[in-house]
This record gives sequence, structure tokens and C-alpha cells, in this order.
Amino acid sequence: MLSTSSLIVGVCAAIAMIMVGLCGIVLYQGRQDAMEHTRDTLRDISLIAQRDIERNFEFYELSLQAVVDVLSDPNVTALPPRLRRLVLFDRAVSAKYLGSMLVLDAAGNIVLDSAHDTPHKGNFSDQPYFVVHRDHPDLGLYISDPVRLGGGSSIALTRRLSHSDGSFAGIVLLSINIEYFHNLFAGLSLGPRGTMSLTSRNGVMIMRQPYDTRNIGRNVKGASTFAHFQTATEGSFSETSSIDGTRRLYWFSNFPHYPLIITVAAAEQDIYAAWWHRTLLIGSLMLTFGSAFVALSILLGIQLRRRMRAESELQLLARTDGLTGLNNRRSLGEILEREWRRARRNRSVMSLLFVDIDRFKAYNDTYGHQAGDDALTAVARCISASIRRPADTAARYGGEEFVVVLPETSTTGAAEIAERIRGAISGCGIEHATSEYGRVTASIGVVSRVPGTNDDLSAAIKAADEALYYAKSRGRNRVSLSEET
Ligand code: GH3
Ligand code: MG
Ligand code: MG
Repeated sequence: MLSTSSLIVGVCAAIAMIMVGLCGIVLYQGRQDAMEHTRDTLRDISLIAQRDIERNFEFYELSLQAVVDVLSDPNVTALPPRLRRLVLFDRAVSAKYLGSMLVLDAAGNIVLDSAHDTPHKGNFSDQPYFVVHRDHPDLGLYISDPVRLGGGSSIALTRRLSHSDGSFAGIVLLSINIEYFHNLFAGLSLGPRGTMSLTSRNGVMIMRQPYDTRNIGRNVKGASTFAHFQTATEGSFSETSSIDGTRRLYWFSNFPHYPLIITVAAAEQDIYAAWWHRTLLIGSLMLTFGSAFVALSILLGIQLRRRMRAESELQLLARTDGLTGLNNRRSLGEILEREWRRARRNRSVMSLLFVDIDRFKAYNDTYGHQAGDDALTAVARCISASIRRPADTAARYGGEEFVVVLPETSTTGAAEIAERIRGAISGCGIEHATSEYGRVTASIGVVSRVPGTNDDLSAAIKAADEALYYAKSRGRNRVSLSEET
């Protein structure tokens, strides 16, 4: 009874937990999806920026190469300055974000300037981009760290000039205003806390979005994020930024042809913002419904337990005699049938006692019906108290008659119990003036049987009744065995 309702509550709780669990899995997958989606977006943005930069750099590189090639032609060097400027520096240098294109001699002095027929005076022999070409003849294109050239911060793209014998003849320099990167990055949407940066492979920051001039030229080689860039050509990782302390998902890519690294990052806070919103909503709904479900199942369990208890109480009432509390006639029928079949199966002996109160009609007539009921209850108590084995059963057969079923009890044992019952009733000393004994007594008929296949229960009952009748005829207040009749 208890276990059924507990089972219902348990199963409902398990279902609720499974539902909450499944919901948790789905939400967790949503979180993973948000991360994956952001990673794809970061890769796309990085690719767009990288392609733009590469395309421009290839063009600048060709422009530099053209100057190197043309300068080696003596006819060009012989041209008047204005014409020479037009021939040397094609219209590329007038492009947006491009500063001047300069030719420096082996001593670092400006000899040609794309912007002026007569170049300004200036010496760049101490600049790293000059020194590096002087000392390394085969360097090719060199991209400088951000430097201050002309108006604002720029990076210089340089190539070496060599004499015909291979000796150092100076450099050609093209400056690119870092505004170019600034505008490029600003046009790509990265979320409120997103960042984007272009770093040289030696760790110097060329541009970072959100833009702050203090970050330009800053060396981030020691930052934990930078260590990742060396592990692969491209990839992603999560890390806390050394600049603003925000944890972000990064996508980085090393340029294949230039010593540059582009990094695009989105703050985890932004990545999961929508997810968190959804999770809180669905999670709280799920928890509310789950708890309501469990609460309902508990209520259902309690109701069920009550109903089952009431049912079993009713069942007990249906099997009990209202006055004496013993089994009633209906229940006795079932018990007799069951024990008879069991005895037949086990080939065991079974005894029946028929107990009938003596001269009870007279008792009622003398003391009244209520006193008769009290006497009946007292007699029932005497009978119950005299049987001790769990399998022994006492029942009210009807009126002032009782039956005692004694499974696996031989005649001797049954006679003993019958005598005990008789003695107990008589020993109660309930006054009965019109009885020959002066008190309430009972006569008992005993029958014992080992039921055979063809033996009938009613025959055994009849024999017990006859034994009782015999006891009555022998003077009442006595026990008669069926064999004696
Ligand atoms: P005997 O010694 O031969 O058994 O005589 P008796 O008077 O006991 O037998 P009889 O069968 O003639 O009477 C049974 C009486 O039991 C009839 C009725 O007055 C009384 N009786 C039967 N059922 C109840 C009951 O539920 N309450 C009360 N108070 N009396 C009952
Ligand atoms: Mg009777
Ligand atoms: Mg009687």
C-alpha cells in the first residue's frame, strides 16, 4: 500500500528529473552551438580583413618593385626631376592611406620623394628598416613596426636598392598610414566587447580595435594570448585579455606571405548573452513545471494511500462480525475452503469446533437482549483467548454459535483446545439463573479429518454439528468428539 504510492512519487520524480536533465542537455548544447557559431563568425571576419590587407600589400609590393626596377634604368635617372617623379611613382601613391614613397641613398638621405620634385632633407640611417636592408641583402620586402612618419603613425614597407655589383645602394620606402587598418577594423562588427588586432610576428601591435593610440606599437610578445599564435598557422582559443582583463574567444591567423598575425575575438559575455537569457527563462519554467509535477504526484500519492487504507479498512469490516470482532460467516466460508484444500494437498489433519451457548434463549428472556449481546461478546473473547497458533481461526457462525478452525491439529489437540474454551466460558462466571449450571456455559462438538480426494467439507461440518448435538443431549457444558457419536 505504502510502496505503491511511494512508487508513483518515485516514478514521477524520476520523470521530472529526466525531463530537467534532457532540458539541461539541450541547453548545454545550445551553449556549445553559440560558441561554435561565434568561432565561425570570427573566422569569417578574420578572413575578410586578411584578404583586404593582403590584396593591398601585394599591390604596394608591386609598386615598390616597380621603383626598384625603373631606378636601375640610366635613362630614367637622367630625366628632369618632375618627369622622373611621374615615371617612377605611378598614380598608386595618390591612393588613400598612402603616405609618400621615398628613395634613400646608401647613407640614409632622401634622394627622391613621390610628393615633391625637390625632396625634403632627411636622414633615416638610424631607422631599423634602413639598417636591416643594409645588413641583410636578401631580405626582400620588410614591414616596419609603427613609426611616426609625416602626419601620424604609419608602417613602412621597404625594399633594398643594390648597385650592379650587389653592394648596398639604399632603400625604397612606402609608408602606409595606420588609419587604413583602423577604418578596415571599424567596419567589421564584433559585438560590444569584441576586439580585433593586427600584430607583427615579433609581437608589436600595429592596430587594435577598440582603438587606443597607447596600444599602437606596444609589444605584446609576453602576453599569454601571444603564445598561442606560435602554436599553429591559425586556430582558436579562450583567454583573458592582458589589456582589459576580459575573457574572450579568439580566432587568430598568421598571414601566409607577410609577418603579420590577425586576431579577432568576441567576449564570452557577449557570446553567451542570448543563451543565458534563454537558459534562465527555459530553466526556470522547467524547474517550476518539474516541481509542480512532483508536488502533484506527492498529492496523488497521499490521496492514493488514504484511499487504499480506507479500502483495506472496509475489507476488514466486510470480513468481521460487528458485535464480537471475530470473522463473520462469509469470511469463515473462505477460510474453511482454503484450509480444507490445503489439508487435502498436504494430507494433513484439520479440526473444527462447533461452539454453541447453552440455553441462550432463556438467558435473553431473563436478562434482556442487551445483556445477551454482552454475554456473546464475552464468550467470543474467551474463544479468542483460548486459541494461540496464528493459523487457528475463530468465527461467529450465526446467533450464539461459533466455529473454530484448527489446521494441522489432531483430535487430541482439538479436544484439548475445546476443553480449554469450555472451561474459559464457564470460568467467566456470567450469571445465568435459568441454566442448570447457574452460569453461562457452552457445548462444543469436535471433528477432525484428513481430507481425502472425495471427502466433502459439508460432511465434516455436519459431523461437527452432530457432535455438538450429542454434547447437548449428554447434559450440555461439555465437549463431544465426532467419533463418539
Ligand atoms: P440450547 O442450549 O439447546 O442451545 O438452547 P438455546 O436456547 O441456546 O438455543 P436456541 O437455538 O433455541 O436459541 C438461540 C437463541 O440465541 C435465540 C436468540 O434469542 C439468541 N440469539 C441469537 N442471536 C442472538 C444475538 O445476536 N443476540 C442476542 N442477545 N441473542 C441472540
Ligand atoms: Mg444454537
Ligand atoms: Mg444454544
